[in-house]
Amino acid sequence: MSFEKLAEKIFPKVEYSIEYYMEKYPKRNLKEGAKVVRYAPSPTGFQHIGGVFAALINERLASQSEGVFYLRIEDTDQKREVPGAIDDTIATMHHFGLDFNEGMTGQETSKGEYGPYRQSQRAEIYNTFAKDLLIKGLAYPDFCTPEELAELREKQIANKITPGYYGEYAKFRNITEEEALERIERGEQYIIRLKSPGNPENRVDFHDLIKGDISFPENNQDVVLIKGDGLPTYHFAHAIDDFLMRTTDVIRGEEWLSSLPIHVQLFEVLGFEAPRYAHIPTIMKQDGGSKRKLSKRKDAEAAVSYYKEVGYPTVTVIEYLLNIVNSTFEEWRAENPTADYHEFEVQLEKMSKSGALFDLVKLNDVSKDRIAAMKADDVYANYIAWAKEYDEEMYTLVTSNETMAKEIFNIDKEGPKPRKDYAKWDEVQDKIFYFFDELFDRETVEQIELPKGLTIEVAKEIINTYKDEFNFNAGSQEAWFEDLKEIGIRLGYCANRKEFKANPDQFKGMISDVAGAVRSALAHRNNTPDLYTIMQIMGEEKVRSRFEKFLGI
Ligand code: GLU
Repeated sequence: MSFEKLAEKIFPKVEYSIEYYMEKYPKRNLKEGAKVVRYAPSPTGFQHIGGVFAALINERLASQSEGVFYLRIEDTDQKREVPGAIDDTIATMHHFGLDFNEGMTGQETSKGEYGPYRQSQRAEIYNTFAKDLLIKGLAYPDFCTPEELAELREKQIANKITPGYYGEYAKFRNITEEEALERIERGEQYIIRLKSPGNPENRVDFHDLIKGDISFPENNQDVVLIKGDGLPTYHFAHAIDDFLMRTTDVIRGEEWLSSLPIHVQLFEVLGFEAPRYAHIPTIMKQDGGSKRKLSKRKDAEAAVSYYKEVGYPTVTVIEYLLNIVNSTFEEWRAENPTADYHEFEVQLEKMSKSGALFDLVKLNDVSKDRIAAMKADDVYANYIAWAKEYDEEMYTLVTSNETMAKEIFNIDKEGPKPRKDYAKWDEVQDKIFYFFDELFDRETVEQIELPKGLTIEVAKEIINTYKDEFNFNAGSQEAWFEDLKEIGIRLGYCANRKEFKANPDQFKGMISDVAGAVRSALAHRNNTPDLYTIMQIMGEEKVRSRFEKFLGI
């Protein structure tokens, strides 16, 4: 059956032939093994961390193979479109170090020879292929109303029959050209469906690059190709775009795996060579005893914006995601502590086939490690970049005390076990506030932490003596501690734990109480880096003024 007249009636404006497009978008001239992959979001405004996950895998595989990573915007569902979403996607991906070689470069701009890269601008192309399928009798118009379709579905479900529009249930599957033309003349609404040649009794074997060998029944649903608004469905657009853009590997979320039978068939019907497919496991979260999808509504960390706002360094997030992609990443990182993550080779076949578990605790560990491994100058640069946007006060304080800030960020960095203080930039203020008078002076008495068992009165007594007797220029950590010890012993504190335990009544306490009192006076916190270092960074004047402030409480 051929629908030539009907095809002309439905698509009078189609100007070109499919051959024209085949030639216009030739096979790419790339080196052997180069992968052409894409990130293909719908511009709905919300960016899920799963999108960065998918984009990262695509970008790494393109880059590793010297291929192409392009951005295609899938905006055929125009009701869901949010203004500015394309710019936002590009900026977000760039923030995570994911830059496109080709595709959309802004709301209205693009680069590359395989465009347009926005589906809403490709109607002419989709129409050309839909027209061709009509002519060949591989597609047909369906005039069912939404109510009729709902009714069909209900009946099928009630009778325990596979629901859908297919075979004997596809009312217009065998419509004649005459009838179709008449209905269109009368102004009836319609959509265009595939006339599926499939039979579910037959099985299709398929190899997915992540899931491995799979097998499924042939598709026999007459899926919608062109919707009532004239735009294609995802199925149809995906097949045409990925073919004409010469995508070699479609790497996408596993929610599309169930549509694979349709896609494989569409490629066949269209006469296209199918790309390779890899279906990425969905990012899951442990919630009590069970796992569930990271949810936009329930989990702040589902939104990409979260990581930027709380200040995870982008490299941390990327490296954490790489951990999920290939569990071997952790070992590689341990063996190559200073290497750039781009040197790690992502391998799809080593990816876990089932859920990818996202765990904030683990992310924090990775992040602390990464920040610990950064040079102080880099910590400074990253921190002020974050603070500039999210914490104006810290930005001003830190940038106007640059030398001190860099010294703070350098505490215990050089040794074999660098300090692991922060996982994200919004934790920095809490850990370093006491270096800045502006923040320190805002503390209330209740916030002051004292060593266990020490009252503020006793701590003041210690400081009262210490401030007059201590030697700021002791010269080394050891000499400084000796100095503190001597003062402590004179005050009646014990320098030896055994001795103290044997005769606790003879002492006021341990030397650690003396150090603790100094710590409280300088920082108001029990847990800080080495005191000598803190004092050196603060400088004598500030140290003395802190002692005076403490005595004045
Ligand atoms: N627009 C689809 C989505 O956002 C793209 C899926 C694909 O990568 O093919 O889910």
